[in-house]
Amino acid sequence: MGNISVTIPDGTSQTFEKGITAGEALKELVSSKIRKKTVAVKNNGVAVDLSVPLVIDSVLEPVAIDSDEGLDILRHSAAHIMALAVRQLFGSDIKVAIGPSIENGFYYDFDRDEPFTPDDFEKIENKMADIVTGRLPFERKEMPVRDAIEFFERQGEKYKVELLKEIEADTVSLYQQGDFVDLCRGPHLPDSSWLKAFKMLRVAGSYWRGDEKNAMLQRLYGTAFYDKKDLKKYLAQLEEAKKRDHRRLGKELALFTIQDQIGPGLILWQPRGALLRKLIEDYWKDEHYRHGYELLYTPHIARQDLWKTSGHLDFYGENMYSGMEIDEVKYQLKPMNCPFHIGIYQSNKHSYREFPIRWCELGTVYRYERTGALHGLLRVRGFTQDDAHIFCRPDQLEDEIFNIIDLNLLILKTFGFDQYDIYLSTRPEKHVGSDDHWEAATEALKQALVKKGLDYELDPGEGVFYGPKIDIKIKDQLGRSWQCSTIQVDFNLPERFEMSYTGDDGQEHQPIMIHRALMGSLERFVGVLIEHYAGAFPLWMAPEQARILNITDDQYHYSEAVYDRLRKLNIRIEKDLRNEKLNYKIREAQLMKIPYMIIIGEREKEDGTITIRKRNGENLPPMTPQEFAEMVSRECQEETGLSN
Ligand SMILES: [Zn+2]
Ligand SMILES: [Zn+2]
Repeated sequence: MGNISVTIPDGTSQTFEKGITAGEALKELVSSKIRKKTVAVKNNGVAVDLSVPLVIDSVLEPVAIDSDEGLDILRHSAAHIMALAVRQLFGSDIKVAIGPSIENGFYYDFDRDEPFTPDDFEKIENKMADIVTGRLPFERKEMPVRDAIEFFERQGEKYKVELLKEIEADTVSLYQQGDFVDLCRGPHLPDSSWLKAFKMLRVAGSYWRGDEKNAMLQRLYGTAFYDKKDLKKYLAQLEEAKKRDHRRLGKELALFTIQDQIGPGLILWQPRGALLRKLIEDYWKDEHYRHGYELLYTPHIARQDLWKTSGHLDFYGENMYSGMEIDEVKYQLKPMNCPFHIGIYQSNKHSYREFPIRWCELGTVYRYERTGALHGLLRVRGFTQDDAHIFCRPDQLEDEIFNIIDLNLLILKTFGFDQYDIYLSTRPEKHVGSDDHWEAATEALKQALVKKGLDYELDPGEGVFYGPKIDIKIKDQLGRSWQCSTIQVDFNLPERFEMSYTGDDGQEHQPIMIHRALMGSLERFVGVLIEHYAGAFPLWMAPEQARILNITDDQYHYSEAVYDRLRKLNIRIEKDLRNEKLNYKIREAQLMKIPYMIIIGEREKEDGTITIRKRNGENLPPMTPQEFAEMVSRECQEETGLSN
């Protein structure tokens, strides 16, 4: 036995006998207060169990259970504990697939004939609680892959066997808890007693390895937190998210529908949704016009050869729908708008003096998504990108990026998003374009962010193969992040399409191309907007800004006259003149989240006025229809910062 030295981040170092576990070493090195929260340890940068024996000089960094990494370990361990509970309850012949931690929770996939139901959740939770009380340790064993395959074959765990057969290492680690042995890299909680706050959430079907040709498994979802307080907060947030679910609100507010006879992932916009979309599109177009963009329209299909030139067929083919033949020439639906904009560029010769060229289009594209991945408006098969392509000279790149970010943040702010996370992704290993170009472009992106005074996170090597990019994730009212905006420099397409312009030296040069989407797609963005506002849209984008409610039939004709007047004054107005109780009509308008209710009774009829009730219940003093229209237009202007 020799000695090793163990160092902790503050520099404290001590010598121990080789073979001491990380946990034992920490007992000497850190306070009991820290140890109480230490769930695992980073040994020379790699997260491992506290029970791991140290055999070389080590730098140990305690992983706190309430840190991001600690929570990951907690949740992943909870998945093991859930699997053990399920097998104890429903029989060890249930086969297990995989059980990772995910954002805010964990899941485990089970192969079991009988379906799990929400009624089973309480049983599983109780059994998990027993396991927690039993303080069952996670015991790690290493064995040659061949032995592990034999072991799991004996148990009939075919999924584990399949995974093992693909592993290239010589040995793997198994973890045993009670009589449940799982193939796993670890690390885990020292024992089950660390799991203090958990909850089963739902069950869903899931294909083995996400492939529809494979067996359908049952995925049990759960969540776990460091303490009960955090768990409670998260469950309340889930409840709130459920209320805001855009699929549910989309139906209740009659915004959109998805129907089997049309096809999954294809959105039908109902009148109210279509109007909402029109308002968003109009604002988008106007704002782009003000920022020096020109609008394009392009078709939905193009010759297959175009997609060969662009490289989409080679690199993106599996997301494209198969071709159709027209006059013996193959055509395909577009997955992207870029080659069309390049086509327009190539319809003329260009000089450096014309740059920058800023072209935008609300372009509808079609991409294949697995049925299982489709989700309301958020993941669809046909969608309209708020696309733009900027062509410029290298010396204009930084300014253009700055302008794009400026417009991006302005539009997001108008829609009510002023919190975001920004990521700058740099050159990946596989890439096209010279290193000089990459460096210059990355620097331009960086400088634009700095000039704008924006904090960003660097994602080294995460750029697209054709250029560096900036991604902006917006935060909604529940603090959830949504990836919407992306700004990408492209060295690839200008090369492939041999694009050029005449420089001030009289020579031909290749322009820089920037792809950019602010909202991502209208479908996705409207989905996010519905959840962000819980369906109560700001006045400027509310499909129905006001609804007229008469108190009795005596005001019928006056109400009709007010309706006509306000329609002519461009108010998006509807009327509910049914012979129903006023309270009933108010409740219905409330459910449709209409900003203003216009109540008309005898007094209003006599005075030629209207009384306004806001959707929050507040009443405004009587005013004339003209005054109301002016108020609405003023408020919309304030919301959008527009003068129309
Ligand atoms: Zn594990
Ligand atoms: Zn593009």
